[in-house]
Order: sequence, then structure tokens, then C-alpha cells
Amino acid sequence: MTVRAGREFLAIPGPTTMPDEVLQAMHRPALDIYSDQMVELTASLLADLTKLFATKGKSYIYIANGHGAWEATLSNVLSRGDKLLVLESGRFAIGWGQAAAAMGAEVEVLKGDWRRAVRPAEVEARLRQDKDHSIKAIVAVQIDTASGAYNDIEAIGKALKSTGHPALFMVDTVASLGCVPFEMDAWGVDVAMSGSQKGLMTPPGLGFVAANDRARDVHRHANLRTPYWDWTEREGSEHYRKYAGTAPVHLLFALRKAIDMLHAEGLENAHLRHRLLGEAVRRAVAVWGEGQVLGFNITEASERSDTVTTVTMNGHDPLALQRFCKEKCGVVLGTGIGDLSGQAFRIAHMGHVNAPMILGTLGVIEVGLNALNIPHGKGGTEAAIEYLGESVAA
Ligand SMILES: *Cc1c(COP(=O)(O)O)cnc(C)c1O
Repeated sequence: MTVRAGREFLAIPGPTTMPDEVLQAMHRPALDIYSDQMVELTASLLADLTKLFATKGKSYIYIANGHGAWEATLSNVLSRGDKLLVLESGRFAIGWGQAAAAMGAEVEVLKGDWRRAVRPAEVEARLRQDKDHSIKAIVAVQIDTASGAYNDIEAIGKALKSTGHPALFMVDTVASLGCVPFEMDAWGVDVAMSGSQKGLMTPPGLGFVAANDRARDVHRHANLRTPYWDWTEREGSEHYRKYAGTAPVHLLFALRKAIDMLHAEGLENAHLRHRLLGEAVRRAVAVWGEGQVLGFNITEASERSDTVTTVTMNGHDPLALQRFCKEKCGVVLGTGIGDLSGQAFRIAHMGHVNAPMILGTLGVIEVGLNALNIPHGKGGTEAAIEYLGESVAA
């Protein structure tokens, strides 16, 4: 017996739900990749990405996922043996650092933990110790999709600036761009990267990088450069050089539509929507937590992200809950990954999400908690409903 006919709902942090308009935008023949239409499409997307990153720097589009975009950032600014400082707050900055190590960089991890965001004061202290400036770049994620941590990039940027240390500051916005504010130039970020399939509501397969002048100066002397990722190659005037080969025509159609939809909503409205829906999820989880089994992975409330909530489960199997939600109700929750494997599940609330999707997801989780006799505080979904009723202005 199930109640899952119809469309399955992905409440996982990527790939996320794509709007029908985005899917339909791809349902057309390819264009000549040398046509004016393609040249204009690329120019419009690069200009809009630059605005999304909020930089006066340059943007690049890669046919790649987030892992590819990581490699793009590293190969363009690092030289063999350069030291990279990784700011730990879960899984993803660590993964970026592992890529750097495999590419020939020396990697140091500023120890954090899975239950908290990066502490700017700790970054500052480490940089002040580095008197001979052996650290060449610092990498951090804005939102760690595994732990659910939100890092205050503005505060880390300020801490960095106060030290006068010349290291490049590089930030991963894969799980945050288009969902929460990001101000590359104003926050002192030199290189930012993102991907298409999370907040940007587009199929997986596009990676985005933005670099300021300081990063592009460092780039000129970097020796980890390879032809595919190379910014200088991509700045060539012929259109095919923007992609180091054939343009990903249909993904670009999709991205164009997705960014148009974000513009139509208004970026600030999209941010506010994520804040409201993220808080609705947190209200529900807080109530469920009264049963002493479920809880927030991120201990500090102000460090919980507006795009994904990682929920720990003490003494019960999150996989059983996930299986129930998927197989019986058609809602796919994210699994706990890394240190939280088998101990948590994740609720994504990023990208093309609205109140019925989020309230439906919370309701289904509650159905599962009841069906599996997992102790939980009663009325979690009700708390989310009450919160939205109070907060969404009539
Ligand atoms: C998903 C994600 C990545 C990796 O992206 P892929 O497209 O899966 O390679 C990197 N960083 C963050 C913060 C992510 O959420």
C-alpha cells in the first residue's frame, strides 16, 4: 500500500527540482554554435553570472559539475607546491582541498568540525602566524551541504583583510548562489565558483567560476594551468573558446530560462523565500527534536543554512525513514554523508521550492515518523504552518 502515484519529489540537495519552464526551454533543436544567437546567449549568461556573483571580475562557464569547477579554480591560480588553507565546516571544503592535493598543492586544513561553521577569529589567528606568507590561497564553502553549516563569508573576508595577508580567498557557492545573498567584491572574495543543479534550477552539467583582477594576475604565473580550464584560453574572442570546444547548447537554454525566472521573481525575493522556507523547516525540526531522537546537526542556530537542514537521528535508522518517505510517499530525502553517514538525513530547501513542496515534505516526514514509531515532538509541521502564517505578509 502506498500513497506515491505521480511525480516523485526530490528533497535532496542536488540535483534539485527543475521548473517546467526550464525543462521546456531545452525542447528544441540545437543552434549553430557559431551563430549570432549563440554568441549573444553566451554573452548574456556571462554578464548575468557576473551579476549573480556580484563582482566586477570575469565569469567562466565550464561543462562540468561542481567538482570540475573546483578544479577550474585551483588549476588557474595555483603552482605546484603552493600551500592551500582549507577552512573545514563539514565535507565540501575538504573535498576541494583533496582535489588540490591530488593536483600537486600542499594542503593544510584549519580544523573545524561537523557541527559548526568556520570561526573567523581562528582564520585570522592562523594567517597572523603565517608571517612569510607561505599560504597562497584559502578555500571555504558558503554553505556546507553535508553538515548544513552556513559560513559567514563576509566576516571571514573581513578577518582576512584585517591581517593584510595576500592569500587569495576562494569560495564555493554551489549550494547557495541564487538562494542567499553573496557579494564577491564587497566581501573580499577573489575567486568564487558554483554549479547549475542546485539553487540555479538547471540540469547538472554546468560549472561557474568568477575571478577578480587579483586572481587573474596570480593566474598569469600559475603553473598548474591546463588547456581546458585555462582562463586565458577562454578569454579568446572566438565563441568556441568560451567553452574550449562545442558549447553545451541545451544546458545554456535551460540556464537562460532559469536566470530569467530568478530575475522575474527578483533576487531579493528569492533570498527571502529561502529564508522563510528554511525557517519553516527549522521550526518543524525543533518540535520533532522534543522526542530526544531527532536534532539539528548544527548546534548554533545562527549557523544553520537556509538551503539545507541536516537532521541527526539518535538511536534510530535514518535509512528506514528515508525508505518509507520515498517508497510509500514519493518524497526523496537526502542521506547523511561523510561523518554523518547512517546517522542523519537531510532536507533540501533550495532552488525551485515553494510552500506546498516544503510543507508536503515536512508532512511526509511526520507520516514516516509516526509509521515507524520514531519518538518525536508532536506538531512539527503545524509549527511550520504557524510560522509561515505569521511571517508571510497578507
Ligand atoms: C554539491 C556540492 C559540490 C559538488 O558539486 P557536484 O556537482 O556534485 O560535483 C560542491 N560544493 C558544494 C557546497 C556542494 O553542495
